Amino acid sequence: MSYERLDHCPICSKTEFKNFLVVQDKSVSQESFVIVQCTHCQLKFTNPRPDEGSIGPYYASEAYISHSDTSKGLLNKTYRLVRSMAVKNKVELVNRLGSKGKILDYGSGVGYFLQACQKDGWQVEGFEPNEVARKQTEEKIGKPLYQGSLEELGVESFDVITMWHVLEHVHTLNETLKALVNATKTGGHVVIAVPNADSYDAKKYGADWAAYDVPRHLYHFNKASMQRLLKKHRLQLKEVLPMKWDAYYVSILSEKYKHGQTKMLDSFYTGFRSNLHGSQNDNSYSSQIFIARKN
Ligand SMILES: [Zn+2]
Repeated sequence: MSYERLDHCPICSKTEFKNFLVVQDKSVSQESFVIVQCTHCQLKFTNPRPDEGSIGPYYASEAYISHSDTSKGLLNKTYRLVRSMAVKNKVELVNRLGSKGKILDYGSGVGYFLQACQKDGWQVEGFEPNEVARKQTEEKIGKPLYQGSLEELGVESFDVITMWHVLEHVHTLNETLKALVNATKTGGHVVIAVPNADSYDAKKYGADWAAYDVPRHLYHFNKASMQRLLKKHRLQLKEVLPMKWDAYYVSILSEKYKHGQTKMLDSFYTGFRSNLHGSQNDNSYSSQIFIARKN
């Protein structure tokens, strides 16, 4: 097991950070990690963090359900219900961006979104580092996914590239985003969904906020830091949209972390409050979708 400490902010490259919060990994390792905040651009990030070669075991849990199709328990049932509605919303979202061409889902998980895009008439490609999840995507779409180097994606290949709750997991943040922007056609779109560390639920739950999800989440973005990152990679932010279901799901998990048991009523109340807060405060929802255009 080896850890790495970032000396430079991954977004603005400055070197001064302050400690923000200590968060325990309650889903897998029970280890605690420090989240620091860049004093220049305000990005929050997990530091130190397990390096790329050491992060694998932190995903090795049945509790990490976004990578598996198991269906035990109320939480997982809720997750699956939410997922089917969320997939429908995501397909509607990419359909609004232009004509149905070629789409890459980077970090495709178990493949529900790509499967739905394919059924809807898109030419689909995917990338997924987790072998179990990758095979499930391949089964659903009937073709192999990209593996290996980012250069394989080519230049100006895709009309749309999506990253649904993926970018916060990527060690090589700038290299990956650079390659993905290269692979996007001029006039095409990059869609990035990430949890919002400025949301009502983030502030309410503090260290128990499930979307800190250390050490798997390496960066804890807000709107300002994402805007800065997009600009750095010459992407033009067109729109910020909410992921309203996430407020409920994250609150259910956060209540469980906080009290050691599921508290559905409290969770739904917080989810509702979070969405209300988001609607009144410049779309500062629990999770946000950033739609950016390559000009
Ligand atoms: Zn910074």
